[in-house]
Amino acid sequence: MRKCLKCNCEMVEGLNIMSSMGYELQLTHRFPKGIMNRIKAKASVCPQCGYIELYTEDLEIVKNLTK
Ligand SMILES: [Zn+2]
Repeated sequence: MRKCLKCNCEMVEGLNIMSSMGYELQLTHRFPKGIMNRIKAKASVCPQCGYIELYTEDLEIVKNLTK
């Protein structure tokens, strides 16, 4: 459960972020040999104040970036 950083209210999570063209937002990381990691971005929204927060559930990919 995510709490809003602004008002401490419980946020609505798991929303996909899509462009008007229907494409999902991704974070990318390119390694020197050209291999590219794609990290799917998700959003949570506070129903009280409207604050939007981005996060990912692809934690294994992110952990590998710190090695
Ligand atoms: Zn809030």
